[in-house]
This record gives sequence, C-alpha cells and structure tokens, in this order.
Amino acid sequence: MARDIGLGVRIPERECSDVNCPFHGTLPVRGQVITGKVVSDRMNGTVVVERNYLHYVKKYKRYEKRSSKLHAHNTPCINASVGDEVKIAECRPLSKTKTFVVVEVLKA
Ligand SMILES: [Zn+2]
Repeated sequence: MARDIGLGVRIPERECSDVNCPFHGTLPVRGQVITGKVVSDRMNGTVVVERNYLHYVKKYKRYEKRSSKLHAHNTPCINASVGDEVKIAECRPLSKTKTFVVVEVLKA
C-alpha cells in the first residue's frame, strides 16, 4: 500500500521496495517543493534537476536568468529520466548532496 504524502501529487502506479521512497518506504517529506527539469539520470538512484529563476538587478532594473542544479532521489516506482519535468520535495539529507526526492513526473 502506498502512503499519501499530502502534497496533492499522483501516487505512482508501480510499487517499489525502496525504504527511501515517500510512497512505499518511510521517508518523510517536508519543506520546499520545487519543479525543475531532469538534466542527468546517469547516477544510480539519483537525478540532477535544474531549475531556472529570475534575479532582479537593481542597477539595470531588469531581471537576469539564473539556474541552479539540485540532486534528487529517484525511486524505482517513479524512475524519472533526462528531459522530464519533475516535482521534487525536500526531505532529510539522503547523502552529502541529496536532500530532495522526486515525487511526480509532470511531463516526460
Ligand atoms: Zn515507491
């Protein structure tokens, strides 16, 4: 049985046995929820998610484009791949650089 993580996201159709899965394991999610695009899926169980945002530059009264990359845990039941638009939720640190988990693939 999948748990309801309370973010209004779709529950994955597939089951998995990952303890660090918010749906089928015991990983709580709390904090920020971010959408971004998967730019790398070459790691085992981790994807790199890039997010773009605008930063205001006072001197020129204009916005500049900025981007940052986050590592997010990719559970077997979601299995996001490069090019996917994903929703990631903050969780406890899963490794040195990983504090987010993929909770939904918005569009492939
Ligand atoms: Zn799962």
